[in-house]
Amino acid sequence: MKPIVAVVGRPNVGKSTLVNRLAQTSEAIVHETRGVTRDRSYHDADWAGREFTIVDTGGIESLKSEDVFSGSIRDQALAAAEEAAVILMVVDGRTGVTEEDETVARLLRRVDKPVFLLVNKLDNPDREGERLWEYSSLGIGDPLPISALHGHGTGDLLDEVVALLPDEEREVDPFPDALGVAIIGRPNAGKSSLFNKMIGSERSIVSDVAGTTRDAIDTIVRRDARLYRMVDTAGIRKKSNVYENVEYYSMVRGLRAIDRADVALLVVDSSIGVTEQDQKVAALAIDRGCAVVVLLNKWDTLGEERLREQVMASVERRFTFATWAGVLRTSALTGRAVEKVWGMIDVAERARETKISTSRLNQFLTDLREFGHTVVDGKRRLRMHYMTQTGTKPPTFTLFVNHVELISDSYRRYIENRMRAKFGFGGTPIRLRFRKKD
Ligand code: GDP
Ligand code: GDP
Repeated sequence: MKPIVAVVGRPNVGKSTLVNRLAQTSEAIVHETRGVTRDRSYHDADWAGREFTIVDTGGIESLKSEDVFSGSIRDQALAAAEEAAVILMVVDGRTGVTEEDETVARLLRRVDKPVFLLVNKLDNPDREGERLWEYSSLGIGDPLPISALHGHGTGDLLDEVVALLPDEEREVDPFPDALGVAIIGRPNAGKSSLFNKMIGSERSIVSDVAGTTRDAIDTIVRRDARLYRMVDTAGIRKKSNVYENVEYYSMVRGLRAIDRADVALLVVDSSIGVTEQDQKVAALAIDRGCAVVVLLNKWDTLGEERLREQVMASVERRFTFATWAGVLRTSALTGRAVEKVWGMIDVAERARETKISTSRLNQFLTDLREFGHTVVDGKRRLRMHYMTQTGTKPPTFTLFVNHVELISDSYRRYIENRMRAKFGFGGTPIRLRFRKKD
């Protein structure tokens, strides 16, 4: 469970430059899932041994074009305040204070969280430092001079930020065996309606337990003999506040839910089709090792065949990196396919827990050598010596090869596809690692 550091400010002040700088300075986390769209707005970072997530609220705002609930700077700042542990407000040190800066500052002044005021683009702090004083008028503490571009001031900043991050809470989990399920998706996609329909009657609810963060509530549901932990249902069971309709809020909330989930149910609004936002959130879930089930909700609204085809086309276009994900056409309104969701969750999780013996894997490699094509580069020829499963949840495999650099993305995908053809893994991401062995 990583705390969130939110970067807010009007456009063009250098937010994304700063986020890139901070994420770069810290040890980058290596993602081995290939073909997944990397997200510009969310960055895993760590500094001095503390892990956190940096969120560039401006990156989310730039999704505006296709989003119905586009967040204004004001909404972004409010939502950031709601979810973040620490807030970084960025202003442009070359323009002086603008009206928009004042608007953002006014909101942040009322927030009961640490806020840093970063005066950016001071590439020569010695010469430009005297302009700092005018930013004090924003009323959110001492302005700190930085240059996101050159990195001046960012190390000190990170020291101060991590010192303020909350200690990780470790609570005793009364339901350690419950399967974690996160219901994610854009505002209004039908998450609450689906959840209510899925649990049918309140009788299936065993208990509510506090999640690991402030105001997160998990719902423990029993179906047959199995327990499910529906992660962070606070907003889902009862629309709790005005932020519910802010895209940023739903994204961050979803992200945190994914961190604690085994299976992510991605609820898509079929009347709109799969959006860039849906694509991003699916990629993030996969990155974090979740199985994924896509629910094309509001299917009942698609009267014409043409519309249904459009939605399916958007699935194909947006989820090229997750063709293995299960897809259901649901309607929380009519109940269509809602009962099937549980089955899909179970199938995906079973795949995610699959273990394959080394002998079967090496038989697979033998077949691959015999029927697959040969990878050569000049004199070098790829040899795959053996492979073994080195993890589950999701299944992770290590292949020992003579030349790791001969493994291209397309070859990696080829091996993954062959593995899926042979072993299944429907519903779950798998990871392939290559290690050198002569
Ligand atoms: P955002 O809209 O707030 O995310 O701003 P960007 O990060 O996209 O930056 C806007 C512009 O300011 C870009 O052209 C950056 O190269 C430039 N910029 C950002 N930080 C600095 C800095 O520290 N010094 C200078 N000179 N330019 C910067
Ligand atoms: P959330 O913000 O993702 O939790 O979405 P809600 O569950 O609050 O649903 C948003 C709106 O869509 C509500 O007016 C629902 O009644 C409606 N809705 C949800 N699911 C469906 C569905 O399958 N079909 C139709 N026609 N409307 C739906």
